[in-house]
Amino acid sequence: MVDILIIGSGPAGCTAAIYAARAGRSVKIIVGDQPGGQLTTTSLIENYPGFPEPISGQELMDRMRLQAENMGVNMESDVIKSVDFSSRPFVCLGESSIFYESKAVIVATGAGAKWLGIPSETQYRGAGVSSCATCDGFFFKNKDVAVIGGGNTAVEDAIYLAKFARSVTLIHRRDSLRAEKIMQKRLLEHPKINIIWNSQVEDIIGDGTRVTGLQLRNVLDNGESSKAIDGVFIAIGHKPATEIFRSKLDLSDEGYVITKACSTQTSVTGVFAAGDVCDPIYRQAITSAGHGCMAALDANQFLE
Ligand code: NDP
Repeated sequence: MVDILIIGSGPAGCTAAIYAARAGRSVKIIVGDQPGGQLTTTSLIENYPGFPEPISGQELMDRMRLQAENMGVNMESDVIKSVDFSSRPFVCLGESSIFYESKAVIVATGAGAKWLGIPSETQYRGAGVSSCATCDGFFFKNKDVAVIGGGNTAVEDAIYLAKFARSVTLIHRRDSLRAEKIMQKRLLEHPKINIIWNSQVEDIIGDGTRVTGLQLRNVLDNGESSKAIDGVFIAIGHKPATEIFRSKLDLSDEGYVITKACSTQTSVTGVFAAGDVCDPIYRQAITSAGHGCMAALDANQFLE
């Protein structure tokens, strides 16, 4: 039994843990299946205050984790597979078959990559289809790759992949990007990166074992074309990791945990949420960290 169980180890979870431990609470973080969360799959972070030089997502999360551990936070390498919030103490069951009891819970499970939803994407996942440029980019040294999407992730991935690949083609369904202007400028000026505008991926083509190309459709004139590539990185956004909270917490139509206005309180008293799992708008490392702080303060006040 701990005072506060935190589910998730990204910026929200780690910051919540640091604040809760400093308030004198016993705290356990259930690390989840992606220790450190999504930030560990991004390349360089240039907009986290306090780091004037770019820092890798992995290093930033290693530091947050160490800071939490230095405060006495217990990190548990487990993945929560079901929760019982019907009575207190709350009980969360891990894949390890361990039952974790706590007086309060902070849900900080973040979000996972969205996929296009075409069958060939599943068929070739790990054989040329990826959602993680920093994990898999190295395998495409001197190859031709495509990145799908027009947000910060897609643009960052394209620039990162251009370090290894022979060529990078960014394919976007509209004629303008939603990524930050500074990132757009770097992308547009990069000699190895081309952009195909107004186009959707209709199919991922392969030889049965590996990806060899893409079938594209122009959304303006419906024209079909194909593009030979060795790998495709899907960077079309994220969806909240809330499967285990269905029917346990109030969720929005898009699956985000609903919290009360100006609070991290969920629909169950004593259960709080922070970070990308409840934020469809800002979704930044720094806003997640701030949100984690708020959840720890709310949980501490609840326990008091
Ligand atoms: P976004 O939601 O910002 O962008 C998703 C992109 O994918 C959009 O361009 C969207 O197109 C496109 N898209 C969505 N669905 C489809 C589909 N089915 N087919 C084709 N294209 C599709 O997601 P990101 O992951 O890029 O970013 C998420 C958040 O994380 C943002 O707030 C971003 O700012 C932040 N982030 C910040 C970073 C940083 O600060 N260093 C780095 C990475 C992310 P359309 O534009 O037409 O909607």
